[in-house]
Amino acid sequence: MKYSILGDSGIKISELCFGVLPMGPLQADIPAKEGAKVILQGLNSGINFLDTAQAYKTYPHIKEALKDYSGEVIIASKSHATGYDEMKEAVFEACREMNRDYIDIFHLHAPREDKNVFQKRAGALSCLIDLKKEGVIRAVGISTHAVEVVEKAADVEEVDVVFPIINKVGLGIIGGTPEDMIKAIKKAHKAGKGLYAMKALAGGYLIKHIEESINYVREIKEIDSTAVGMINSSELTMNLKIFENKKLNQEELDQTKVQRKRLFISRFCEGCGTCVEACPNGALSIRNGKACVDYNLCITCGYCVPQCPVFALRIV
Ligand code: SF4
Ligand code: SF4
Repeated sequence: MKYSILGDSGIKISELCFGVLPMGPLQADIPAKEGAKVILQGLNSGINFLDTAQAYKTYPHIKEALKDYSGEVIIASKSHATGYDEMKEAVFEACREMNRDYIDIFHLHAPREDKNVFQKRAGALSCLIDLKKEGVIRAVGISTHAVEVVEKAADVEEVDVVFPIINKVGLGIIGGTPEDMIKAIKKAHKAGKGLYAMKALAGGYLIKHIEESINYVREIKEIDSTAVGMINSSELTMNLKIFENKKLNQEELDQTKVQRKRLFISRFCEGCGTCVEACPNGALSIRNGKACVDYNLCITCGYCVPQCPVFALRIV
């Protein structure tokens, strides 16, 4: 496993970041103890970097994994909080629920926001800056799907880490092509920001081209690490091989042919439109009084799932 320092933050991270989102209730919803075993296996295999979020509800999985681990672990979390106190509560919740004295990286969770995010969420940002001074977090970050936010983050001195979406087909990127995003990534890197990437597999859309797709992101030299969502040992083993520059065998490649997960909308949908607002990718719309998903735009992030008041959405 290759390790590098995340921009000017001084934080040393593994090139493969364990994305914990898919094991939580927004997606596979596996029990904390079961997920913890996979996380622990990842840590024992050289991964030292975990990515989660307040919204993912995976703190119990991480807490359980860390009970049996004494090595150094870097945790990144994030919150949709807008105000100061709300963000403070989110950071302390992360500390409490993962049994940590501090959180290494804490992001403004801002998948669909525009470049005004730093003004709109000035309270939350200022809270992160204060908590960094107090040692409750080590780095201030922003996670985003928008090219213009990555560009803007490069100019915001207090931001240490940027977590952008990037994949070879550009699925989920807001306001530009993969090339535009790479240009913004380069700008942020030049400004000293640490960058790690999300959605190299476009939420499973590129799973049949797993090696090529992950290596596309690994080859962007300004990206220090790539977060890949994993829920079981076989996915972990495959990803470890790719990050160790080994070829997958036929059996492993066959596993990637299993049908990708999809968003399912049940007949109980009442057409309220809440999920449409929640989708960062414009994949949902209301047609004939019901929610409807465009699978060419959906990155199966699951962000819409908890927003439905009648539980009509599931990733299956
Ligand atoms: S439809 Fe739901 S799962 Fe798909 S991209 Fe939008 S928020 Fe994510
Ligand atoms: S939030 Fe639920 S009920 Fe409302 S439109 Fe979406 S799926 Fe239907």
